[in-house]
Order: sequence, then structure tokens, then C-alpha cells
Amino acid sequence: MADAPLPSRAGHVAIVGRPNVGKSTLLNHLVGQKVSITSKKAQTTRHRVTGILTTAVAQFVFVDTPGFQTQHRSRLNERMNRAVTQSLADVDAVVLVVEAGRTVAADHTVIRLLPAGASVVVALNKVDQLKDKDALLPQMAELSALYPFKAIVPVSAEKEQALDRLLAEMATLLPEAAPIYGADEITDRDERFLAAEFIREKIFRLLGEEVPYAATVGIDRFVEDGGVRHIYATVYVDRDNQKAILVGAGGVQMKEIASKARADMERTFGGPVFLEVWVRVKRGWAQDDATLRRLGY
Ligand code: GDP
Repeated sequence: MADAPLPSRAGHVAIVGRPNVGKSTLLNHLVGQKVSITSKKAQTTRHRVTGILTTAVAQFVFVDTPGFQTQHRSRLNERMNRAVTQSLADVDAVVLVVEAGRTVAADHTVIRLLPAGASVVVALNKVDQLKDKDALLPQMAELSALYPFKAIVPVSAEKEQALDRLLAEMATLLPEAAPIYGADEITDRDERFLAAEFIREKIFRLLGEEVPYAATVGIDRFVEDGGVRHIYATVYVDRDNQKAILVGAGGVQMKEIASKARADMERTFGGPVFLEVWVRVKRGWAQDDATLRRLGY
């Protein structure tokens, strides 16, 4: 089979918006499964790559930005928001998600924080649940008055409506460039690595910043047997008190981490997963060569 021609545009894209507008749903429906990168290049961008979509015209590299704080006005929130604004200035295109038919104060806050001169497309999401489609035009006019958006596209992330139009608008905003990641660098096939990533991500999400930086995850065994993946993992922490936090009273915390990670694995791998996670205290694991080798560093 002849190789498909390479897309002629490539760049980094951030998806922003107030909570609950459908940002994760949009990312999932644009990109499909979770994707991880083997390349060291991933660490050279200042953002974490959350997904990659390579079409015939462009490679979209979606990146995480810290979430905007839209609730309270405080010094801390202002500082955090400045950090988001700065991180948005680094990407090639921004997708602002707003709920169709419903622009609220928190949307205005996010729009105020968009960096001047950014290339921003609005995805007016959830059109499928909008009864009065006539409400779209005034909303689009209202939004246009707030920021020089490159385009406003009504979509439904969940029902996958008009996502191709959204992508076409986004593609025009990306620079002409060769793909940033080659097909062989995008390891949606490296399930072992992804399994560790899923566990790490849940630890991070559920425990905030208390433990995650001191914790790392190793996959001890990964075997497929009769369509069931059996995955045995160990979380290494530095100190006893970190282990106590991670395991939680009666093991509830770890159970939740494991069960959420398992759900991600089953969705991504497309089959049942048996997951066992142990927590071990290994002082100075980050200094220990043998441990680091085992963990694949
Ligand atoms: P996020 O907080 O912005 O990441 O929002 P989520 O992606 O978690 O979505 C918030 C809620 O909106 C979820 O219950 C989604 O199922 C729902 N949702 C997202 N996209 C759509 C859509 O296109 N149509 C409808 N009807 N619901 C959607």
C-alpha cells in the first residue's frame, strides 16, 4: 500500500472553557482513545500532550492547560489565571467551548483571560440539546463582540455533529509544518506504559498534590489470558505516611484509584482487565538505579 501523503500543517491546540461545557467529551470524540508519546520531544513542549489527531490535512496535538479559576476572585486565582493565559499564548490554536444557547458569567471570565492576538475558535457545544435553534444567532453575535474569534461553530461533541467543520476551522490556524509526531512515536499500542499512566493519573486526580510527585508506578506483570488482561502494578512512595495516604482508611483510597484506572484501561484496551495494585515504601526510589531501570527510566 502506498504511504498516505503527509499532512501539511501541524501545531498545538488547547481546549478551554468553564467547567461542564464538554471539553473532555470534545477531546475524546475528536481523538478517540487516549494516546501517549514515547518521544522525548513530549517533554520539550511545556504542556502535557493529551491527544493527537492526524488527518489528511493537519496534525492536531492537543495539550493540557491548567484550568481557569472562574469561581472566586482572589489573589491566588488571579495568579493561576495569569499562568493559564501565558500557557495559551504558547499554543497555535485555542478552542473555546461554550454551551449552545447559554453564555454565563464564567464564560465571560474565560474570554477576558484569553491572550490578545490568540487564534481562537469557539465550539458552541451541545447543540443537540438546544430546543430553540434561533437562539444561536444572537449568541454568536454576542460572543463576536467580546473577542475577535476566528470562527464560531455550533457542534455536538457527544453526538459528533459538525466536528469536521470545527476541525477544518482549526486546521487553517495551524502553521504549515511537517507532523510533530511520527506514527511510530504515538504509542496507543504500548498498553503496559498506558496502564502505568492511568494509575498515575488517578493518583494525581484523587490526591491532589500531596503524594503524586513522590509516587511512581511500575508494572510488574502484564499478561493476556483468554481475552482478559491481568495487570499487576506497584506504586512506589518515599515514606510511610505517603503510603498511608495513598492506601486510605481500610484501603478505600487505593480501591478507588484502582477501580477508576481499571475503567480507563478497559475502555482503551477494549476488553476486561484484572488489576492488582500494591503500594510499597522504597526510600529514595528516585536515586536507586535498579528501581529506575525496572520502571523504564
Ligand atoms: P468538561 O468539564 O468541560 O470537560 O465537560 P465534560 O466533557 O465532562 O462534559 C460535561 C457534561 O456535558 C457531561 O455530562 C457530558 O456528557 C455532557 N456533554 C458533553 N458534550 C455534550 C454534547 O454535545 N451534548 C450533550 N447533550 N451533552 C454533552
